Amino acid sequence: MLKSIHCYRLSYFKHKPYKDLFMKFGKFEIHSIVTGQFALDGGAMFGVVPKVLWERTNPADDRNRIALSMRSLLIISDEKKFLVDTGAGNKNNDKFNSIYGIQNVDGWFDNALKKYDLTPNDITDVILTHLHFDHCGGSTKLVDDEVVPTFPKAKYYIQREQFEWALNASDKDRVSFIKDDFMPLKNNDQLVLTEGEFELFDGIEILTSNGHTPKQQHVKLSSEGKTIFYTGDLIPTASHIPYPYVMGYDLYPLTTIEEKKKILPQAYEENWILFFEHDPFVNSVTIISSEKGFIIKEKNILDD
Ligand SMILES: [Zn+2]
Repeated sequence: MLKSIHCYRLSYFKHKPYKDLFMKFGKFEIHSIVTGQFALDGGAMFGVVPKVLWERTNPADDRNRIALSMRSLLIISDEKKFLVDTGAGNKNNDKFNSIYGIQNVDGWFDNALKKYDLTPNDITDVILTHLHFDHCGGSTKLVDDEVVPTFPKAKYYIQREQFEWALNASDKDRVSFIKDDFMPLKNNDQLVLTEGEFELFDGIEILTSNGHTPKQQHVKLSSEGKTIFYTGDLIPTASHIPYPYVMGYDLYPLTTIEEKKKILPQAYEENWILFFEHDPFVNSVTIISSEKGFIIKEKNILDD
């Protein structure tokens, strides 16, 4: 039985040049880590796009919510262990979890990291795209009624402008920021405030976007001619690849569209892997150009 699965996988990989990258990515090793699922209003997730269109790929539940995942990316180099985003975490009360349908994976980061012989103590760097609870809640955890950093030895990176916005958000998005998710990092001197686009580490570039929230940061990981891009909330799911498919949650939807028009053609030209944080079915894709715009070429390139 095991043997036949193995053979199947080997022959499958032969025709999918990217498939073997679920572990080795040039000089890095990468893994997708699903920390949990949650659910948001389908209409809010697709802005002006009518339900008859989005429900084909993302069916709604009886409260009109669609299923979403919280998917982090683990990047391992010789010297460092990076984590991109941390899910919603386990500090929230039952009411909050019920509203957002939050279901964390059992054992959460401890179990996920154990698969790779790691513990939260081994994580050296946590790159946070932005400070909405579904992206950074897992950065801290509750221990004996005290909120402490989940990764005690890590530096956590967030753009300065995003951090300042989180402390003084607008009426539209204030509900998405929970101070316990990030202030303990600041108080513990683990938060590094970043400024704009830069190379964080050889092969790890930080890019920024502003349509969803001020200075969201994205990781562009490149090694040996291969590139993977962590889309975060710029393109939250594979269904958001078409330009007008933009979230109602975005502060500046027209800016999001402009940012997609910059990223997607480059992703196509250079055959990037786009990594989706929120798509419940598709962790990653490469894209091709068609008369309908960019569409999926290859999907689920990483193992969840
Ligand atoms: Zn999100």
